[in-house]
Amino acid sequence: MNIPSNRDFCKSLPKIELHAHLNGSLSEKTLTELGSSPDDVAEYQRLQRTPPEGRNLSDCFKIFGFAHKATATPEAVYLATKNVIREFYDDNVIYLELRTTPREEVGIMTAESYVEAVVKAIQDNTYDILVKLILSINRQHSPELSKNNLDVILKLKEKYPNIIRGIDLSGDPHKGNFEDLKILFETARKNGLRTTLHCGEVKNDEEVSQILEFRPDRIGHAPFLHPNYGGCSKNWNLLRMLKIPTEICLTSNIISGTTKSYELHHIKEWIKHDLPFSLNTDDKGVFHTDLSQEFERALKYLHIKNEQILEISSNSVNHSFATQEEKNKLQEKLKEWVYTNCNF
Ligand SMILES: [Zn+2]
Repeated sequence: MNIPSNRDFCKSLPKIELHAHLNGSLSEKTLTELGSSPDDVAEYQRLQRTPPEGRNLSDCFKIFGFAHKATATPEAVYLATKNVIREFYDDNVIYLELRTTPREEVGIMTAESYVEAVVKAIQDNTYDILVKLILSINRQHSPELSKNNLDVILKLKEKYPNIIRGIDLSGDPHKGNFEDLKILFETARKNGLRTTLHCGEVKNDEEVSQILEFRPDRIGHAPFLHPNYGGCSKNWNLLRMLKIPTEICLTSNIISGTTKSYELHHIKEWIKHDLPFSLNTDDKGVFHTDLSQEFERALKYLHIKNEQILEISSNSVNHSFATQEEKNKLQEKLKEWVYTNCNF
């Protein structure tokens, strides 16, 4: 058998995406389709194509701003979601968990109609990719707004239990704190939602400890968790004991400056200690990446072997919020691909 290049291997591999924010995943094509001005699209392209070392967080927020502006009606949200799903499908992603915060635009869209538009796009998907939705609580929002959003989330979870599978904590890690929002996540969990929390995006040992003690189903990023990376031994030992799967987003961490380089990425400690993790894009539009490229970078910079990539994909299925039956089908698809394409 011919040994495929890393690029071909990663592109062809059926992939599992567990950490993708809807608004951060818009391509420039989608922005154009949504009626963004040529100037906005040109600026979006310029920022996307600036090498990581030439970009900073405020550039990333600027890109988010363009996406936010372009998705201010239910129709735009529907189209954006459909396009994002198709683009992940084109990258051979077979399972996608999209996440987004319920959003209101006064007089145009309620938090509920926003989520309904996303759900409708997922229902109307005809590509061979299974899509689930995680709804986010934004830590920048007031406790009242977050409580209202949770009410919407729980109501729509009852209506679409097989699509709305989880709840996420996201937003600017400098703002708000998990302890104030914990009650909302406890309520969500009691109501059958799975939980994933952005964790340790800035040094904050106390909050990381609170998050781990909550025992979410998964955590996101965790760049400041290991003691060699600004975290503390107590939290690292707790993670090692609980083995909570971590959603890793390599390029996102480099561009947003939480990690110095691919070679020095904190994931090396997860690999060394055999802790569970998945590879994800976070915001493929903002960071100008796709899941194939993230896998390719893992092969190149972290010296992961192709066999390990398959193991990461298979483990990601287990970490997902799909039903057991759906997980079995996804594992079958992976096995079939390995049988046809690999000789190891
Ligand atoms: Zn994220």
